[in-house]
Amino acid sequence: MAEQENKKRDNVPDACPHCGYKLTPWQQVLLGVDRALVCKNCWYRIILDVEIPDEESNDIKNSKGKEK
Ligand SMILES: [Zn+2]
Repeated sequence: MAEQENKKRDNVPDACPHCGYKLTPWQQVLLGVDRALVCKNCWYRIILDVEIPDEESNDIKNSKGKEK
């Protein structure tokens, strides 16, 4: 589905988080596929982490605290 592809690309940064070097659209595609890319400007290894929502761990803590 095209919509899913758009969502995927949203998670990919368009610039190196280390030096701010702009990534080309092709580099962004590679980053999205490989989940990792080496910045050609500063050689920083950009790694896409799978985001773990904080709410989930909070829920676990809360339910534990409420338990009697
Ligand atoms: Zn960089």
